[in-house]
Amino acid sequence: MSTTKTYDAIVIGGGPGGYVAAIRCAQLKLKTLVIEKESWGGVCLNWGCIPSKALIAAANFVERSKHAGTMGVTVSGVAVDSAKMQEWKNGIVKKLTGGVQSLVRGNGGELMKGTARFVDAKTLEVETADGVQTVTATKGIIIATGSRPVEIPAFKYDGKQIISAKEGVSLNPLPKRLLIIGGGIIGMELGGVYSKLGVDTTVVEFLPKVLATMDDDLVNVVTKAMGKSGCKFITGAKAQGYEKNADGSLKVTLEVNGAAQTMDTDVVLVAVGMRPNHEGNGFEKIGLAQDKRGHVVINDRFETNVPGVYAIGDVAGGPYLAHKASKEGEIAAEVIAGMKSARDWRAIPAATFTHPEIASVGLFEHEAKAKGIEYKVGKFPFSASGRAMAVMETDGFVKVIGEKTGPHHNDYKVIGVHIVGPEAADLISEGALAMEMDAFVEDIGLTIHPHPTLGETVMEAAKAAIGEAVHMLNR
Ligand code: NAD
Repeated sequence: MSTTKTYDAIVIGGGPGGYVAAIRCAQLKLKTLVIEKESWGGVCLNWGCIPSKALIAAANFVERSKHAGTMGVTVSGVAVDSAKMQEWKNGIVKKLTGGVQSLVRGNGGELMKGTARFVDAKTLEVETADGVQTVTATKGIIIATGSRPVEIPAFKYDGKQIISAKEGVSLNPLPKRLLIIGGGIIGMELGGVYSKLGVDTTVVEFLPKVLATMDDDLVNVVTKAMGKSGCKFITGAKAQGYEKNADGSLKVTLEVNGAAQTMDTDVVLVAVGMRPNHEGNGFEKIGLAQDKRGHVVINDRFETNVPGVYAIGDVAGGPYLAHKASKEGEIAAEVIAGMKSARDWRAIPAATFTHPEIASVGLFEHEAKAKGIEYKVGKFPFSASGRAMAVMETDGFVKVIGEKTGPHHNDYKVIGVHIVGPEAADLISEGALAMEMDAFVEDIGLTIHPHPTLGETVMEAAKAAIGEAVHMLNR
């Protein structure tokens, strides 16, 4: 007979929300257990953020080698070994997933491999390889069960020819042709990877444009660059179904702006969004309130309607971003430990790892316009940056959006920073800090940035917003 083990805090899910919550709970001297049913590190470490970034780096390496001649470097014989690439990528994943376990243990937390289900608000049954174990939490249970890819009924995943991003980061051997359904973040990131690795890649997007939520000027830079490296786009297109050809390939039917069209491919990667993992966890047993899509309803302290039960990350609602989940995990842990912590951030930065990258924080220009905000935009192109020229990455620009707060020419508060260009994902943190600190665009402009760096482009864009750019004529 199994005995019931008691903890102060239990976290369900070992992804970037859950394992961070567990580490923070343990740091705060709570007796902590984190339970994971599949792989430590969740989607992010195993088949999301990290593996895709490894493949993106490899693909960009291939692409850049084609242009090395411009720098006076002759590169020949560049070949892609997809087995070796997978081995390298898997090595990174292994190191990081191992690191997560060490960090939880090193902070004094415990890990359990198994599927947890609520018995009551304080008790979980965990199905492990060694049978069912019962665990209870005296102070709090944090739900961090994450999300999984949405499935289109006409394209049921078979893991081989109809795949999600999960298999999409493990393609070996590479197919000759790849059709990606969905021109969102995943579709664009993986579309960029495989077209650069030599796969005939087409991204099919239902809406009139890819990356539809972002400003057009940002997206246009990326579609143009991806087009040059061989990625094709079909917009205004709904993927309706497929049939198998005699040679085993697939004939996909698309409805493009109302007209039927077919397309042959070897593999279809479906990337039409994610949905919360809310089933099979016994949420209904404890009367947990959920929204229409299954997200657990929470307040600013990540408390659910059930006392002592908290929810963070994708399962508690969008945006589905690892860094948001991690932050929420830290706060939920602090709430359980009796601290006054609550959600208090002004903006969550987001990055799309296409080449060039797109990174944003705050309002897009079209959103500022729709809200009727009186604003000014400062834009500075990477083509005018000495550093960008020196690293041969001049596509794109930085755009700083300031809201008018007073009568003076510099009375503009930062409400959005958007970057399309080299290292955009790293550069955006300055924008996030500016928004957190309620900075004015002038504050970014007044800050001395090291020369020669890509960061100077952010400074110049901020100066441009108030007509004070130095390395560009102000209009
Ligand atoms: P998404 O919501 O970003 O994009 C899905 C796209 O698919 C949309 O543009 C939608 O119009 C389109 N679509 C839907 N049904 C379609 C159909 N039948 N035919 C053609 N197009 C169709 O979703 P995603 O790209 O799957 O990403 C999932 C989540 O993961 C997102 O919330 C994203 O934020 C997150 N993510 C983030 C990163 C990052 O931060 N770099 C990377 C990958 C994923």
